[in-house]
Amino acid sequence: MTGEHKEVFLLKTERLYWEDPLGRDFEARILEVIESGGRLGVFLDRTLFHPEGGGQPADKGFLTLLSGEAVVAFGRNDLKIEGVIEEGERVLHLLSGEVSADRLPHRLPEVPEGGWAVRGTIDWEHRFDLMQQHTGQHILSRAFEELLDARTVGFHLGKDYVSIDLDIPALSDEARDRVEDRANQVVFQDLPVSGREYPKDQLPGGIRARFNIDAENIRVVSVGEYDACPCGGTHVVSSGQVGLIKVNQVDRAHGGVRVLFRCGKRALIDYREKERLLGQAASALSMPLGDVPQAVQSTLARLRDLEKDLEEAHEAVLDFQVESRLRALSESGESLVVEAFESLASDRLKYAAKKISESSGKLTVCYSLSPRFSVVVISPSNSPDARDVVSKISSRWGGRGGGTPGYAQLGSKEPLAASSEAVTSSIREIVQKL
Ligand SMILES: [Zn+2]
Repeated sequence: MTGEHKEVFLLKTERLYWEDPLGRDFEARILEVIESGGRLGVFLDRTLFHPEGGGQPADKGFLTLLSGEAVVAFGRNDLKIEGVIEEGERVLHLLSGEVSADRLPHRLPEVPEGGWAVRGTIDWEHRFDLMQQHTGQHILSRAFEELLDARTVGFHLGKDYVSIDLDIPALSDEARDRVEDRANQVVFQDLPVSGREYPKDQLPGGIRARFNIDAENIRVVSVGEYDACPCGGTHVVSSGQVGLIKVNQVDRAHGGVRVLFRCGKRALIDYREKERLLGQAASALSMPLGDVPQAVQSTLARLRDLEKDLEEAHEAVLDFQVESRLRALSESGESLVVEAFESLASDRLKYAAKKISESSGKLTVCYSLSPRFSVVVISPSNSPDARDVVSKISSRWGGRGGGTPGYAQLGSKEPLAASSEAVTSSIREIVQKL
């Protein structure tokens, strides 16, 4: 059988998921095997696997081969399906695993006339989750339109959350809560959800549509009398099956508003996780859950006060250090002061150098080896030029610096692994040579 012949043979895959949205397995026939993007793909005459499209991800699952000949051809009993795509009116089921190039195309399984019988099984948990999210989206989009006249202009069903884009500039917390309440009220009413195909020119009135559909027949999905919308996706059969609809986040996007939400089991898992996280915070703070926000605020305020106190204490210690070094200096007759400080940030080093230089009137070099090697040079008489001192220190130990003849500083990105005795005596040598 040639490929051309087979394409004529299978023009359209029968979509079972529309008539049987709660179906989990089905019998079908493999009519063709092809290679697509380095993977094997099979066309079936009928399928429950919903292909990726319209914002909804594809179904997952597997096909059990019921023909011994097919088992030999594929070398296994089950074909795992990872990816379902539309090829015109046919549905292509992509098999998991890549096929090495040397096996293609001459080793493609040859399907006999009439095909191979298979039993397909969809990953029900995955599918039901998608149906909950997707049906929840219909209800939520209608509620936004009903209460706020906000139209849905974008839809994305991701692995973690679902989002819709609305054509309104902003959404207040109060309005968001009202819409959320309305959507959940529709869930609690447990309205029937059903799909029906209409010829393009005989669509019923009041249909919510976010794009123009160019097809002869249009499938319309209704949630009781509450909502009707053209959609080719899969949906639960009553609004109650959606479970809770919970808006989780509102962002600005593309001049409108993006609403992130979760339905059913996703909402439950999200609630569980958030309660766990809040519980951890409450237990760390030894507070009831409801007191956590206030406790975090007051803890942060206390932290800021303590940081201020600590800052003041550091300044007092530095003042004390500077004073005691000045006392020692007054007894020495040297014209050069070189002082090493332990772990001093550059602004504090600057402060210490200025104080020492102002009190002593001498050429002052203060440095700290850590947290980063930094040096401040103050030359009250501009001789030697403070920049020359910094430049020599920089060529000896690295770091970048500059300044004026009276004041220059140097900073490095790293601490300097050297003893302060060695550095001090080297700096003295450098200055004497200038
Ligand atoms: Zn839908």
